[in-house]
Amino acid sequence: MAAEPTPQAPAQAHAQAPASASASAPKPDVLAAFEAAKGFMPVSEGLALYTAAVEAGRLGLPLLEVGTYCGRSTILLADAARAAGVTAVTVDHHRGSEEQQPGWEYHDPETVDPEIGRMDTLPLFRRTLHKAGLEDHVIALVGRSPQAARLWSSPLGLVFIDGGHTDEHATADYEGWAPHVAEGGLLVIHDVFPDPADEFTGQAPYRVYLRALESGAFTEVSVTDSLRVLCRTGHGS
Ligand code: SAH
Ligand code: MG
Repeated sequence: MAAEPTPQAPAQAHAQAPASASASAPKPDVLAAFEAAKGFMPVSEGLALYTAAVEAGRLGLPLLEVGTYCGRSTILLADAARAAGVTAVTVDHHRGSEEQQPGWEYHDPETVDPEIGRMDTLPLFRRTLHKAGLEDHVIALVGRSPQAARLWSSPLGLVFIDGGHTDEHATADYEGWAPHVAEGGLLVIHDVFPDPADEFTGQAPYRVYLRALESGAFTEVSVTDSLRVLCRTGHGS
């Protein structure tokens, strides 16, 4: 069941919301949890992701995310999953992408496990989800995305690709998970930057997005900043 509109949502969120009458919006507590969570998704894109997740939830199939990080976007998938009575699955090795490592632009020292000196975002993710009251609606797969994809064999209502930004990672995410998107299900890709001047971490997600469209299996549904929502309208990937 779709979430209700949120007349009490913060003004800032409303100002950035897509002007679509059919867009579902998260309730204020969910939006507040999303905004409070550490992560890499602006509110405008989060609202578009939420709308897609609510729509996809109607298929009654799991919603899967590649790239959990600290659970910011997971909150939205989890809430949509809760509303639909399905489960959100989120995959991450929790050791961070290339650009999140110490010394790089997107590094956050709070994500380092001091004992081993490596990034570990799993505890932060667990905290985020617990505070949002959404733990029961999420299964976290801790490991490498292609390895998890090799074990997967059932249809998905939504696949959200927000993992590594190298061609190797983005391509493996697409090849591993897009085939599982059910007919009428959604493929959502983050960090799609058609103009090289706009991107900071590489254009691999853009190339994956083009590949999905060129496959003939997916049709574009919406564009919100760097977030692209595609619907499976044909076979293949
Ligand atoms: N969705 C998050 C941001 C994800 S950042 C948000 O809303 O804030 C990208 C994440 O992808 C990082 O946590 C990184 O550890 C993970 N990642 C990168 N390559 C991966 C791979 N091959 N397998 C699993 N996780 C990967
Ligand atoms: Mg991203």
